[in-house]
Amino acid sequence: MTKLLYQTNSYLKEFSAKVVSVMADIHTILLDQTVFYPGGGGQVYDKGIIEFNGERAVLKRAKYSPDGILHIFEEGEPIPEDGCEVTGTIDWDRRYKVMRTHTAMHILCGTIFRDYGALVTGGDMEPLKGRMDFELPVLSVVKPFVRPVLNPPCEIYIRIADRVLTLQIRGTQRGAGSQYSEQKERCTSSHHRNTA
Ligand SMILES: [Zn+2]
Repeated sequence: MTKLLYQTNSYLKEFSAKVVSVMADIHTILLDQTVFYPGGGGQVYDKGIIEFNGERAVLKRAKYSPDGILHIFEEGEPIPEDGCEVTGTIDWDRRYKVMRTHTAMHILCGTIFRDYGALVTGGDMEPLKGRMDFELPVLSVVKPFVRPVLNPPCEIYIRIADRVLTLQIRGTQRGAGSQYSEQKERCTSSHHRNTA
């Protein structure tokens, strides 16, 4: 399985890794570790480049699979061989905007659950733009309640917990994805380090 470097440090931009599998027909490799987020949990996937043996290949996207994180190249890009040492660099400008958007959506979830007990029923996002659907008839009253949460800014702490503990967290999102509470939110994505 791929070691998920982004889970413990959302601010890593570059990394070194070794190719452990090559699927040349679909322009895809598996690495032993990665900072490329594959998407899911309300956050979109990373893009970037992978360099090896003096070559530079554009990564179309990272994607989850049961065998590890798939690194899928744009068609026509060079592909490293099995066992090759590579260096990966994520599109940081895109990731940073995505992280800020995703983190803001957490805050919105927690605030609405705290004030209304309303669950998330759907949503979508792109860098600096997100949509969340709640079990609420009116959304215009939300902003004044969110503002005190953001001012003054507070730190966001990441903790790797076991499955039993995370399942004890009160749910504010419907479905099998993340579960949220006012103070604790369960997620596998990357996050901004504070609410500023
Ligand atoms: Zn999250």
